[in-house]
Amino acid sequence: MATFSSKLPQTGVTIFTVMSQMAQAHQAINLSQGFPNFDGDARLIRWVEEGMQKGFNQYAPMAGLPALRTQIARWADHFYGVSLDPDQEITVTAGATEALMCSMLALIHPGDEVIVFEPAYDAYIPAIQLAGGTPIRIEMRPPDYAFDWEAVRQTISPQTKAILVNSPHNPSGTTWKEEDLEALKHIALAYDLIVISDEVYAHMVFDSARHHSVLNIPELADRRVVTYSFGKTLHHTGWKVGYALAPEWLTAEIRKVHQFVTFSVSTPFQYGIAQYLEHCLEDLEGLGGFFQRKRDLFLSLMEDTPFEPLPNQGTYFQTMRYDQLSDEPDHEFVKTLTKEAGVAAIPISAFYQEGTDHGVIRFCFAKDETTLEQAAIRLKKWRA
Ligand code: PMP
Ligand code: GLN
Repeated sequence: MATFSSKLPQTGVTIFTVMSQMAQAHQAINLSQGFPNFDGDARLIRWVEEGMQKGFNQYAPMAGLPALRTQIARWADHFYGVSLDPDQEITVTAGATEALMCSMLALIHPGDEVIVFEPAYDAYIPAIQLAGGTPIRIEMRPPDYAFDWEAVRQTISPQTKAILVNSPHNPSGTTWKEEDLEALKHIALAYDLIVISDEVYAHMVFDSARHHSVLNIPELADRRVVTYSFGKTLHHTGWKVGYALAPEWLTAEIRKVHQFVTFSVSTPFQYGIAQYLEHCLEDLEGLGGFFQRKRDLFLSLMEDTPFEPLPNQGTYFQTMRYDQLSDEPDHEFVKTLTKEAGVAAIPISAFYQEGTDHGVIRFCFAKDETTLEQAAIRLKKWRA
């Protein structure tokens, strides 16, 4: 074997792959990896097909189909009242994952520090590391998983280049308050940081709350990248279409990487999504209500189980404590649960570099009613 040292020595197969495979192997109901078990709007599928029939089958422009970028600009205006230039400020990517990776590779130099909150979505830290950066981790803790801005201030050094934030937050399901955005703004300006804001669950905010987007902080407009995922918004995670919104200078740098990572994103899918946004943009206003009803159903079904829900204000994930059932570490507990109860979940320790275990697991409730009901029945019966 050639002499080789891994660039990501601590990284294994993602917990989502591990748990989805385990769910399949044990015929468990899969509430682990975050994806819906239902299709989105049927018109979307017809529009993608129409794109193929009309010959949208060759490379799309590197930055994204102009029609889609125009519709994303319309979306940003409709939901956030911000005006974006589709040519200079919007880049269509292969999911938010690619947007995040390209942003890190483009903006972080070896030796730069990037602040990231833990529990952290699993793609963040490897992206920082591949760019040669050092992740500086700030711990969030149950039950409320609040953002500790004082801890952020204390960790900033001359090497700190960027801060990566995520709200609504995966896996905790908590969302920013206005004070969080204020603190973020002050810190980014005071210490000259780039803000990378992952807002893939922007439309999934509950209980009459509003999503506070970094897009709405004008002072950060020249130093922020905001990432989104049509996979999440349109219920088709397998389509892998997302986008990065950034000012012209940052967009130019991100595109330098994007053009060599994927060059461009599947053309008929871009066509279909552009048609959908042109005709159905307002439908996205109902997404929060749609998932809130699922959350409320799941919570009411779980009421008679020993699982204890933690606060949730957004995303399609519900965290729960299980200490009435077991004192196993969470990564062991989810395996036992999959094998014995027939329901798969995600251990939150997988989102901490050090494997910090607060005895909390995550269920995905983006499922049809029958699936949620069946899962709750199994969880109620187990160890009863
Ligand atoms: N960020 C977060 C917080 C996520 O949960 C996900 C998973 N959807 C992504 C980014 C990646 O999104 P995509 O599937 O569009 O690559
Ligand atoms: N975002 C999804 C989740 O949190 C997983 C996506 C993936 O498997 N990469 O469950």
